[in-house]
Amino acid sequence: MELPRYEVYALRYATVARKPQENFIAADPHEGPATMDYFVWAILGQGETIVVDTGFTAAAAERRGRQFLRCPVQALGTLGVDAQAVRDVIITHLHYDHAGNLDKFPAARFHLQEAEVAFATGPCMCEPFLRHAYDVEDVVQMVRHVYAGRVAFHRGDVELRPGISLHRIGGHTDGLQVVRVHTERGWVVLASDATHYAENFKRRSPFPIVYHVGDMLRGYDRLRMLADSDAHIVPGHDPMVLRNYPAWRPGNAEIVALHAPG
Ligand SMILES: [Zn+2]
Ligand SMILES: [Zn+2]
Repeated sequence: MELPRYEVYALRYATVARKPQENFIAADPHEGPATMDYFVWAILGQGETIVVDTGFTAAAAERRGRQFLRCPVQALGTLGVDAQAVRDVIITHLHYDHAGNLDKFPAARFHLQEAEVAFATGPCMCEPFLRHAYDVEDVVQMVRHVYAGRVAFHRGDVELRPGISLHRIGGHTDGLQVVRVHTERGWVVLASDATHYAENFKRRSPFPIVYHVGDMLRGYDRLRMLADSDAHIVPGHDPMVLRNYPAWRPGNAEIVALHAPG
């Protein structure tokens, strides 16, 4: 049987200007400013919609000094996805920019790596450096969803559907997972924070928010094994994503089609 081919979209919902030394452990300080964009992703096909990550709220943007462009749920609505009705949400990891807005998905099961929940609720969170990118309210909310039977725990590599699989990479956080999707142009990998920018994996220069540098470097090799080419690896925060892929609709360059041959 031939594998299903899914549509995959990146939806930008926020942005912030940063210095390059904030994006690479070993940065050249002479480089210019480096924008960081924030995305959620949606996988469509076989009569269903799977959302990947839920973004942050306007209040979180305000607290952290990010420029909030639109609510991720509103961006999904533009694409025709009703958050109220979504049944499966993959959370790549529990950082505040990936796991807010959970209450806006009342029908969803949340797919997470066991290691991510253990990491975000365990002794590492006593360290300010490791907990800074988590919002305790998101984590507590997810624990409530565990008790409500709404979390699907995964361990390592898992096939979620024919043509959609989850892969634990770790590195950035202990339980970070990436999503591999079969599309008309082959295997696309939503790398999330396994590589914030394409430059991180291409220069093998990790992003400085990191739990395990060795796992992050090995993760770059995993990404390349999982994706059909470097152009099939979709970084988690790279403004190039909006430039490299075709707009979903003419006039809406904030949503791009990752499955379409560029
Ligand atoms: Zn992160
Ligand atoms: Zn992130």
